[in-house]
Amino acid sequence: MIYDVIIIGGGPAGLSAALYFGRGLKKTLIIDEEKPRNIVTHETHSYLTQDGVSPQTFRQRAKEDTLKYEGTTLFNDKVTEVKKHDDGFIVQTPAERFQSKQVLVASGLIEQLPAIKNIESYYGQSVFYCPWCDGWEMRNKKLAIINPDERVMHMVTLLSNWTDKLEVFTDGHDSLTEENKKVLEDKNISYHLEKIAEMSGENGQLQAVRMTNGETVDVEGAFTYVYWNTKYEFLNNLDVERDENGRFVVGQFGETSVKGLYVAGEAKDNFGSQLIAAAANGGEVARFMMMMEIQQEFNKKSIKTK
Ligand SMILES: Cc1cc2nc3c(=O)[nH]c(=O)nc-3n(C[C@H](O)[C@H](O)[C@H](O)COP(=O)(O)OP(=O)(O)OC[C@H]3O[C@@H](n4cnc5c(N)ncnc54)[C@H](O)[C@@H]3O)c2cc1C
Repeated sequence: MIYDVIIIGGGPAGLSAALYFGRGLKKTLIIDEEKPRNIVTHETHSYLTQDGVSPQTFRQRAKEDTLKYEGTTLFNDKVTEVKKHDDGFIVQTPAERFQSKQVLVASGLIEQLPAIKNIESYYGQSVFYCPWCDGWEMRNKKLAIINPDERVMHMVTLLSNWTDKLEVFTDGHDSLTEENKKVLEDKNISYHLEKIAEMSGENGQLQAVRMTNGETVDVEGAFTYVYWNTKYEFLNNLDVERDENGRFVVGQFGETSVKGLYVAGEAKDNFGSQLIAAAANGGEVARFMMMMEIQQEFNKKSIKTK
């Protein structure tokens, strides 16, 4: 069987795209490893009609919407390789090999936490990275901002919207300029340049940050930096064009330098975003991909009828 499209990734971007493909009568296969980076959190926010639901419920509802359309299938596995084949693609997983005319990469970002002892015990419950996602829940609390680079001042400014009680940690990096230090001092925001040794607390609730010099700061939560792996090794065979920052070079609708290969959601932006933005983008890219196919088919049909 040759699918019209294989979607790699079953997050909001991939499932929203699948909904459009299903309703567009396309034979669609979603391949999803089921390891979204937001799985650590109990609630997702800011998506109209879904505010506060768990990531599992969100996905379950999205799958119900998507898989009710005949011709749409979900296969749980990890894509390991994508190869060009004739006019389309071969998509390989450890268990199976599939063929399609088009491929949509909606595989998000692979997230890695900083090497801070115990951070994983709190991440998603009282330690977060995105104020737009979880700032409201952390309002008026005493918060650690953990960031080793110049973006730390951006986080200070942003989080000042939700609380006045901020403690800055640069985790061993002397990244604050004298000017920035002065801004923080003027606003009575303490900053700590030492490396963080560990986090401590109970039942997912962060209570303190201890530094390598032994000093401990009591807090009620934190916003931390994270790393995002955007290598997408499964595309290594395709020689997809990237820019100097590793971002896919794409057109307005996610079209890459490889004909028939598209990207959507956070994979397209190479940067953390929001569920609603990823879903909207998945739908937009899917509509464009179908339009390309529909146009081609229409051209063929009009030749036949002459
Ligand atoms: C702690 C935390 C809290 C968050 N809270 C919110 C919030 O409250 N509100 C909000 O709007 N956003 C929130 N986000 C951000 C949100 O999760 C993302 O913006 C959104 O999930 C991105 O959607 P996506 O479809 O691009 O990628 P994802 O949702 O990450 O989905 C990608 C899917 O592709 C799969 N995949 C990856 N590689 C492969 C492969 N090789 N083969 C097969 N499958 C693969 C993954 O397992 C995953 O299932 C949060 C994120 C985190 C980390």
